Amino acid sequence: MFSDVNVKVIIGLFCLSIAAFLSHRLGILDTSYSVLVNTEDKTKNLITSKHADAYLTEKRKILLQCKLTENNGYNFCGIGIPLTDGIIDNGLDLSRFNRLSLAIKYTAPNENAKLKITFRNFNDNYSKLTDTVSLKFNSISYNPNRHKLPVDIPFDALQVDNWWVEQYKVGFTNSQVELTNVSYLEILTDGMNVIGNYNIEIQRIDLYGKLISEANLLKLILLIWLITIILLITLQRNVLHRMSITDSLTGLYNRQGIRSWTNKKILMGINRQHFYMFYLDLDDFKKVNDTYGHQVGDQLLIGFSHYVENYLDSIENIQFAFARLSGDEFALVVLGLEDEQIKTFAENLIGVWDSPIVLEQHETYARASLGVAKSSGDVKTFDGLLARADSAMYYAKKEGKNCFKVFNEKVSQDIFFRKQTAEKIKNAIIHDQFHLNFMPIFDAKSLKIVSIEVLIRANTHELLGIGPDVFIPIAEEYNLIKSIDLWVIETTFKQIKKEFTFLHSHPLTFCINISSVELHNPTFVQQLTELISLYQIDPTIIELEITETCLVAADLMSVSTLEEIHDLGINLTLDDFGTGYTAFSQLINYPVSCLKIDKTFIDNLNSEDKTTSTMIKAILSIADSYQLKTVGEGVENHQQYEFLLDQGCDMLQGYLFSKPLLWKDLKNKLSETNQQPFLFKK
Ligand code: C2E
Ligand code: MG
Ligand code: MG
Repeated sequence: MFSDVNVKVIIGLFCLSIAAFLSHRLGILDTSYSVLVNTEDKTKNLITSKHADAYLTEKRKILLQCKLTENNGYNFCGIGIPLTDGIIDNGLDLSRFNRLSLAIKYTAPNENAKLKITFRNFNDNYSKLTDTVSLKFNSISYNPNRHKLPVDIPFDALQVDNWWVEQYKVGFTNSQVELTNVSYLEILTDGMNVIGNYNIEIQRIDLYGKLISEANLLKLILLIWLITIILLITLQRNVLHRMSITDSLTGLYNRQGIRSWTNKKILMGINRQHFYMFYLDLDDFKKVNDTYGHQVGDQLLIGFSHYVENYLDSIENIQFAFARLSGDEFALVVLGLEDEQIKTFAENLIGVWDSPIVLEQHETYARASLGVAKSSGDVKTFDGLLARADSAMYYAKKEGKNCFKVFNEKVSQDIFFRKQTAEKIKNAIIHDQFHLNFMPIFDAKSLKIVSIEVLIRANTHELLGIGPDVFIPIAEEYNLIKSIDLWVIETTFKQIKKEFTFLHSHPLTFCINISSVELHNPTFVQQLTELISLYQIDPTIIELEITETCLVAADLMSVSTLEEIHDLGINLTLDDFGTGYTAFSQLINYPVSCLKIDKTFIDNLNSEDKTTSTMIKAILSIADSYQLKTVGEGVENHQQYEFLLDQGCDMLQGYLFSKPLLWKDLKNKLSETNQQPFLFKK
């Protein structure tokens, strides 16, 4: 969970801690303070009792001559060295020292004479500058034996002087020693009870210690560890948070990121202002992925997001959040746009990906469809608005892609309709409320029925008037198509089995439509195989129709599903041919045996425009060279029929010959048509 950087910081800190600790132990952090050098220009106080005279003879080196003329019991003589300037209640901090070292020579007439070395505090609470000297300060003292001079006094050996507390009844029982605030260092004779000369020569007073005590160093190290770990955890949390709201491929927000950005803005009160949600979906992104591979697809997504970001950055007075939601879907929330600006904004946005994106030698263009929704009284949450923009985008796709559509009442009604229809389809599936129609397909020359296309119809009152051209795409959208396709296949197989004898005398091919979804359904071929064996169907009389639009040359899964179906002995037809993007040269990649020319081409044959007829001719000639059969679909008049016949189209299907029929009607039609020449209805 911790990153490499964090581990490095912790190792670094560990090494530093050890180094600091060792430095302390090795004395690198030692410090010293020379009292005489630092107090050279300070006025020293001579301290004497009544019958002792003292003279200070030198400044740098203190030479004190005391003369006791009369022994009256308690005599003293010495010197007070102020450690700080002026205000004595602001004393020197000695807490970093732990040792006092003095070079002192002391000569006295009596053998047991000693010196007393004292640190004194001054504290306003109990010290009065006007008081006699003893009362002014708390003190810690040490009484070195003069024979052992020069002395080295560890602070531990200092003792707290309490005698004056008793003596002067100051209201408390113990001196309050403050080593952090030492105002005076005092050197005083002790045991001065013989008349004569007492000479004190002070050559050096030094304080030694550590810049920091070991305990404090440990505390400091601990504190640094604590702060560092808190910092690392905070940084780590920030990194994790950032990751949780960022799309790793493009560096944009992800869904969660843009949702929380928008919700924050809503909380901050943008409800009073409206905002726009854009749903962007790349057109035919799957084709890029399937054709050039995922790496190139990723580069396209990155290039696309840069284009959009640059465009957004160039617009003043807007606030925006741009996110990749998943795959090739992006969302954009914009604040600060007025209604009348939306059209230009969206058009310019679509314009930004007019420039090519260079992807590993390939120059590709990103194309995207845009859905726009505006926050309003009834919907102002991120998810609500995204759903609306998504629906609007769906319509932009339907309207020809690379365009935008604003969510409006019509879109809203259509969504309502689709949702309701999906519910009805679900019910119809559960209650088995479908039946089949069979539309004859005629041999163009003989006009005999050679195959029939199986077309689903809903029986239910609920879906009355809603044909498969409407409910099949809804079933695909709402993931209901797989059960419909299986139902159609199984029902057809049942019918074939039931009509075994009839079909023996009237051989027919059954063309069944399957959704493109099946090409990516890993269980489809297996289910198909099971149904073939369950109903003992001869696979060669079955043909599956898939629409051409769903095929992509390099979509390996689709191609391998088609091959597996073909291996079962089932023929494949490309339905609605001419509406997709299949280059004729790609046809070789698919195991198809038939092309069904889309009805729109046949419809357009009636127009003056010659492009359609040229196109049909091209399709027929290519099909011929690939040895593919052809069906002309939607033939409604003689003109179309004759054109197709002349151009060598193999089979024909359309209202001119027959509408889709119920099985019993088809049987009649078959008996009728295949025994005598086809008669056109007047
Ligand atoms: P499609 O597979 O292209 O089917 C041909 C459609 O064109 C049928 O409409 C048919 O009735 C219609 N048609 C054929 N000739 C003429 C003509 O001369 N004039 C006119 N006006 N229409 C003609 P239908 O049955 O409404 O089916 C529409 C689409 O729904 C089908 O297009 C197919 O894509 C889908 N579909 C139908 N049945 C099924 C099914 O069982 N499974 C699946 N997955 N899709 C189906
Ligand atoms: Mg069809
Ligand atoms: Mg068709």
